[in-house]
Amino acid sequence: MAQTTDNAAIAETLKALEIISENAGTSTGLQTSNSGTLITSVSPVDGKDIASVTQTTPEEYEQVVQTAAEAFKVWRVMPAPQRGEVVRQFNEELRRLKEPLGKLVSYEMGKSYQEGLGEVQEMIDICDFAVGLSRQLHGLTMHSERPGHRMYEQYHPLGIVGIISAFNFPVAVWSWNTALAWVCGDVCIWKPSEKTPLTGIACQKIAARVFAKNNLPEGISCLINGDYTVGELMTKDERVPLVSATGSTRMGKQVAQTVGARLGKSLLELGGNNAIIVTPDSDLKMTVIGAVFGAVGTAGQRCTSTRRLIIHESIYDKVKNAIVDAYGQLRIGNPLDENNHVGPVIDKDAVKNYQNALTKVVEEGGKILVEGGVLEGEGYESGCYVKPAIAEAENHYEIVQHETFAPVLYLMKYSGEVENAIELQNGVRQGLSSAIMTNNLREAERFLSVAGSDCGIANVNIGTSGAEIGGAFGGEKETGGGRESGSDAWKVYMRRQTNTINYTTELPLAQGIKFDL
Ligand code: NAD
Repeated sequence: MAQTTDNAAIAETLKALEIISENAGTSTGLQTSNSGTLITSVSPVDGKDIASVTQTTPEEYEQVVQTAAEAFKVWRVMPAPQRGEVVRQFNEELRRLKEPLGKLVSYEMGKSYQEGLGEVQEMIDICDFAVGLSRQLHGLTMHSERPGHRMYEQYHPLGIVGIISAFNFPVAVWSWNTALAWVCGDVCIWKPSEKTPLTGIACQKIAARVFAKNNLPEGISCLINGDYTVGELMTKDERVPLVSATGSTRMGKQVAQTVGARLGKSLLELGGNNAIIVTPDSDLKMTVIGAVFGAVGTAGQRCTSTRRLIIHESIYDKVKNAIVDAYGQLRIGNPLDENNHVGPVIDKDAVKNYQNALTKVVEEGGKILVEGGVLEGEGYESGCYVKPAIAEAENHYEIVQHETFAPVLYLMKYSGEVENAIELQNGVRQGLSSAIMTNNLREAERFLSVAGSDCGIANVNIGTSGAEIGGAFGGEKETGGGRESGSDAWKVYMRRQTNTINYTTELPLAQGIKFDL
């Protein structure tokens, strides 16, 4: 039933994460239930099957929802700072297991080991944030218009939060949601991407241990596995008041309609089409590092990856040459080898999308500056290693308007004032991340002004990719409008209640309305 891996190091990693038992040899021996279709997790690193898990059946989903609903009754009445204490313990476990979990993220998803560790660090950071937040879930008090009355608002948990996540941040996005939802008093049901089910199981095991140690029901954290059909069980389910969904815009439109049809809430974190504006006052070295990391990091598979560079015509050739040179130094290969800059894309479908983008941009009139291609031979057996490519293109090309989830970077020129670059940068359907490289204060402020970037994230002298957890994360337009992570993003996980208390013996009505009996 279960697949095996001959990779002893990966077997050790799975043991450290308690996904397989200590005496399992190199077999991953994993099976989550006796029914359901099998989903096999295939590593894009070497093309090997890591393990198979079973897809959650509708009957199993029903049990999970009931378990979560029961757990909510216990969890919601626990004081928030005590819930924060449980999240603190969960965080201790993440710190202890940072290396194996980072390694599994890298092996199952294909991002570099450093980025895998970074992803676990993001989990640690959001848990720290959530622990502090557990003592700050505040509402406002207002002055009542009626004498002897007090008015205030308070926040209560929503109940079951459904989390649907994408393959590219297989663990961090879950923790952004779950760490906040937990301290808010919600319970969570998570459906990870069907492309990365094992990291999901690893996280669930960690959470389950911590809840058990605190004599708390495991249903506070639930895991379901499978493709979109399993996700739909949650989006259609009225017992799930909030669905937080991360993934493509195509998926987000379906989720929004299904959840909206039952007047549920959805938090959407969808595709991006992010640009860096490079002005004549930019620092060339910073621009090159920011643009290259943004475009090739995670093999161009971040929602915040840099897709477009909008360069002032006066410095266009200089910036173009420097970036093309930098691409010449990139090392592509096994992401667990820290000497490599670029690992594989997730699967062969992603390779096809990448190839299609390069064909299409030429058909539309673009010019290839750095040739792409699929790597073959030793070390590239998975067929998922592609060369980061650069093309000169125009913003209105259909392919440029589209998010290709692969390392393809489009270069384009602007002339005149920075407003012309901002118009290009805003001239796409997505609105996630944006950046300007400039040492000119006036240009930077115009980029950040009300007439500037229309994205959820706008950076100065930083690339588009890589956000800290302290700020709210998300984007506008087809990116979905959701906000997760820091700032006051926690409010979406709670319901707001306004309370008015009368401490007199009279019953005056609001707006001075008279009603005497
Ligand atoms: P995807 O849309 O194919 O799948 C994402 C998740 O949605 C998976 O778990 C999938 O099973 C589920 N799903 C798909 N259709 C569904 C439906 N109709 N109902 C319920 N669930 C459904 O995305 P992907 O390929 O895994 O990830 C890449 C995409 O995610 C990119 O577009 C990227 O920009 C986006 N992304 C956005 C953010 C963000 O914060 N804005 C973060 C990470 C990834």
